[in-house]
Amino acid sequence: MQTDVFIGLGSNLQEPAAQLARAVAELAALPDTTLIAQSPFYASRPVGPQDQPDFVNGAVWLSSRLVPHALLDQLQAIEQAHGRERLRHWGPRTLDLDLLVFGSQTLNDDRLIVPHRELPNRDFVLQPLLDLKPDLTLPDGTTIVTLRTQCPDNRLRRLPPPDYP
Ligand code: ATP
Ligand code: CA
Ligand code: CA
Repeated sequence: MQTDVFIGLGSNLQEPAAQLARAVAELAALPDTTLIAQSPFYASRPVGPQDQPDFVNGAVWLSSRLVPHALLDQLQAIEQAHGRERLRHWGPRTLDLDLLVFGSQTLNDDRLIVPHRELPNRDFVLQPLLDLKPDLTLPDGTTIVTLRTQCPDNRLRRLPPPDYP
């Protein structure tokens, strides 16, 4: 069974936009998975510690036959291949891939909370989701449009097209 899946991408180290562009290609190449669309990229102020570079964020829409935990394994393998090191909570990173939405499923276990717990609080996640699918809703029926209007402003700046492929 194919499921519509939305992945959030973030980076603030080592040419963030290039990290994201590579990651999009790697996500498109995952087994049993098709890339439907990729969002524009946005620059945003960091969440948490402020003594780190601004982030570049975006999202992709995939159609996948992978089950959620297998997909998380793949996301973490891609993060590792990008040299991600876990130094401090919400600290700088070469690549962060978050499983935002997995069809109409809700999950809550040791490894996965889906929809992503912080999704309602992050304009740098909600805006790319709106770019991808303006009528996207969460499993509980909440629309992304509504969440975006209620979300704190993180000084999001859409990057011009030459900055992403
Ligand atoms: P945040 O979750 O607030 O965006 P973060 O992305 O910096 O923070 P990480 O260090 O990348 O957090 O991930 C910590 C753990 O979160 C992972 O090991 C993973 O098991 C767990 N996790 C829970 N739900 C998800 C999800 N929806 N997508 C990705 N990881 C998740
Ligand atoms: Ca994250
Ligand atoms: Ca993460």
